[in-house]
Amino acid sequence: MESQLNDTVKRVRVGAERRVLHDLDARRRQLERMRTMLHEREDVFLQALADDLGKSAFEAYSTEIGFTINEIDHTLDHLEKWAAPTKVSVPIHLRPGSARVVPEPLGTVLIIAPWNYPLQLVLAPLVAALAAGNTAIIKPSEVAPATAAALARTIPEYLGPDAVGVVTGGVPETTTLLEQPWDHIFYTGNGTVGRIVMRAAAEHLTPVTLELGGKSPAVVTDAAELRSAARRIVWGKFTNAGQTCVAPDYVLVDEVVAGRLLTELSAAITEFYGDDPRESGDYGRIINPRHFDRLVGLLDGTATVAHGGTHIAAERYIAPTVLTDVDPASAVMQDEIFGPILPVLTYAALDEAIDFVTARPKPLAFYPFTDDRHEADRLLDAVSSGGATVNHTLLHLAVPELPFGGVGASGMGAYHGRHGFDLFSHRKPVLRRASKPDPSIAYPPYGGLTAKLLRKLL
Ligand code: NAD
Repeated sequence: MESQLNDTVKRVRVGAERRVLHDLDARRRQLERMRTMLHEREDVFLQALADDLGKSAFEAYSTEIGFTINEIDHTLDHLEKWAAPTKVSVPIHLRPGSARVVPEPLGTVLIIAPWNYPLQLVLAPLVAALAAGNTAIIKPSEVAPATAAALARTIPEYLGPDAVGVVTGGVPETTTLLEQPWDHIFYTGNGTVGRIVMRAAAEHLTPVTLELGGKSPAVVTDAAELRSAARRIVWGKFTNAGQTCVAPDYVLVDEVVAGRLLTELSAAITEFYGDDPRESGDYGRIINPRHFDRLVGLLDGTATVAHGGTHIAAERYIAPTVLTDVDPASAVMQDEIFGPILPVLTYAALDEAIDFVTARPKPLAFYPFTDDRHEADRLLDAVSSGGATVNHTLLHLAVPELPFGGVGASGMGAYHGRHGFDLFSHRKPVLRRASKPDPSIAYPPYGGLTAKLLRKLL
């Protein structure tokens, strides 16, 4: 097993040494092959995502397959521009000369992915890594075994073995990979493992990107349009049964409109998933019994169940659930929930809501709901977060020109579109000078004229 892993790694390392993705056409070919794979093997991936997470075909296509195709298309459309050297001006005392920032591939990168969007979170970073000319090892999550197996089977059929290698397995395999030197490690997952990754990377001075999670709040003010706020929060929260890194984790609502928001939240859940969400083809399941037990444990009776609350272990089903009367010190308000449970807390003054959020680790996403522009600006200004969408949820990550990543406890580094290309590139500064002129005044022994000129120019 270990020798197979080493062979796979060696192949892509040799690929990087031989510069198999050095020219843009070679990169384009890999990206086009990946797109063909997603079209031709759509059924295989849809089935795997249904097996792992009960994802509906619509959701699996829009958030995983289609999302990645979009990222590929956007990258292919812009690759030439991103890869082109950027000219910068040269200060007068360094002229004549020309200066450029030249993006160059880092080498061989390691991409470690989690289980919640087990296709997108492997392939979207891979698009960026390949576009920037790197070869890569991808390590899908063992917690989504059907998708990991589908990737391990399919990728070698479409992508060059010296460009991309797939390593499956769990902690032992990831640990083995982490012991090796890489040119970059891109990790998506929880902060505990993020620390393990960063520690291992430090051994080899490997740069890391950590795409982590956290408790992303939605703040609903008295100036919000409550029906659309509720529908958009419900959509963002219960897509993929709440197992989304940027899902609104909890809601802070102005106490004046809290009752109406709760009514609208219930109405939206019923409208989207029916009276019995278990029967809905659009509602997913919890990834495994361990996470199911963890989530059910959060329904510990300390809060009031305002909607849902039912669960069936055999089906890993937890109903879309809304909690009120939530104690901020209770378990559900400690770590990221990462499941279909939505605590709703109230505040009396906006400053109170801001203090509540800023007293906690910086979230991956922040969702102010208000039709008052100034209020939205105030909230955005006060709260530091990985990203934000005003009056909706999740959608900032679907804009390819926006960098996607965390800040503080929610991660470091960002990708998507050009930001991904830059992340996986070394931006090499190059100054070119002609061999002439070469005035002696620039060298020792420095005379009075040199000193005078220096003070004039600097
Ligand atoms: P996970 O359990 O699948 O772990 C992620 C990866 O880490 C896997 O490939 C796994 O093999 C590896 N791993 C696990 N334990 C390890 C160890 N001890 N040593 C080395 N490698 C190890 O996924 P997860 O961490 O449960 O994912 C959920 C978390 O990821 C949530 O916190 C969520 O918010 C976050 N997340 C963030 C983003 C983002 O883009 N910022 C996206 C999705 C999920």
